[in-house]
Amino acid sequence: MSIAVICTGTELLKGSAVNTNLAYLGKELAACGLPPALEITVGDHASELIQAIGDALEVADTLIISGGLGPTTDDLTLDTVARFFDRKLLENAELKDKVQTFWNFHHPGRCPKTQFRQARVPEDGFFMPNPVGSASGIGFETFFGGKMRKLFLLPGPPHEFEPMVKASLLPKLLEAHPQKLITAGFLCCAGESMVFNPVEKALTGFPVEVACAAGAGGTRIFLSGNTQEVVDEALIIARNALDCPTLPAGEFDMAEYLIKLLKERNMTVSCAESCTGGLVANRFVTLPGASAVFKGSITAYANEVKSSVLNVPQDILDNYGAVSSQCSEAMVKGCAALMKTDCAVSTTGIAGPDGGTPEKPVGLVYVSACVNGVTLTEELRLRGGRRAIRERAVEKALTLLYTLLTRTE
Ligand code: ATP
Ligand code: MG
Repeated sequence: MSIAVICTGTELLKGSAVNTNLAYLGKELAACGLPPALEITVGDHASELIQAIGDALEVADTLIISGGLGPTTDDLTLDTVARFFDRKLLENAELKDKVQTFWNFHHPGRCPKTQFRQARVPEDGFFMPNPVGSASGIGFETFFGGKMRKLFLLPGPPHEFEPMVKASLLPKLLEAHPQKLITAGFLCCAGESMVFNPVEKALTGFPVEVACAAGAGGTRIFLSGNTQEVVDEALIIARNALDCPTLPAGEFDMAEYLIKLLKERNMTVSCAESCTGGLVANRFVTLPGASAVFKGSITAYANEVKSSVLNVPQDILDNYGAVSSQCSEAMVKGCAALMKTDCAVSTTGIAGPDGGTPEKPVGLVYVSACVNGVTLTEELRLRGGRRAIRERAVEKALTLLYTLLTRTE
């Protein structure tokens, strides 16, 4: 099976929306051993979609299209696809009921006729239920260009698209194409160049494929093989081959894992942030369940806040400066005491673009972690612009907490 994806939406081309549907779908398909061969993004115009379908069918026998299934006449996908393949669209009684019920639940008054455009299904096709929206997914098979082709149309809003991929699309694809590869992986807290070679070397001759994806939090390693046993064994070998901190198999997000770990240990965490100004707190609070372990954050940007709120001694600020290991350590201790938490993390550094000196250049950041009064501080020399430096500092601070927590096990 060869899969092509078409994403519709002028906003995707203009950059006013990011194509998260492709990122989500690509990851899910790859995890099933069915990575897409091609993706085309088109504006909301029938002519562009027709061109893209033709191009996609040159390389793929399965075509997934996202977006443009709304009820208005500028939602073109279903009509354009039906026209392309010369398929009649028939009103489906069950879908008509669904559209009506969805309308009644969300709006007063009579359901406008245009809504029933979403009750149409191509002849001999099927629909895929949408639990949160009114546009159902649509699927059908057709003979085209000498081959059987499978078509899947899904609504564009990501909160509708994503659950439908999981609940309807993937099972349909796997039914036709049973999963061949098992893929699993974990997060390594180091750059790709530090991670890929040792893992590949340790797994020489082992029947697995190694893949890496770099991000701010480190490198995600993926191992694919034919059986669960082979992949499980390879995961152990890969983790043992690395010097950097690694998360357990199946874990790819440091903040998410820390929440689990702290919950398990019945511990709490807080943070004191200078250069990251709340980004560490945001990493926790973004995740559901954070309240079980995360108590709060102090953005201590100015020196007087570091001293008056976090009790950083004035002589540390005078003798070593705010960007120093001494200040970072005093911040983390002060924070844990103030917030009455078992653990804390702190950040202080020069994110730039101004403010660097030869002794303390832009990118110099100190991060500290504290667990039950034991502290650990790391000096970092980060590269990149202000945003990259701050984002990396966040991940480094979280990683340091993980290191300390797993060291005191
Ligand atoms: P409806 O028109 O009823 O909302 P639809 O299926 O026609 O449903 P679209 O009009 O394509 O959906 O998109 C609706 C919303 O979803 C827009 O805010 C759009 O930016 C967003 N969206 C569409 N495609 C993508 C995508 N590939 N990635 C991320 N967001 C997307
Ligand atoms: Mg659209």
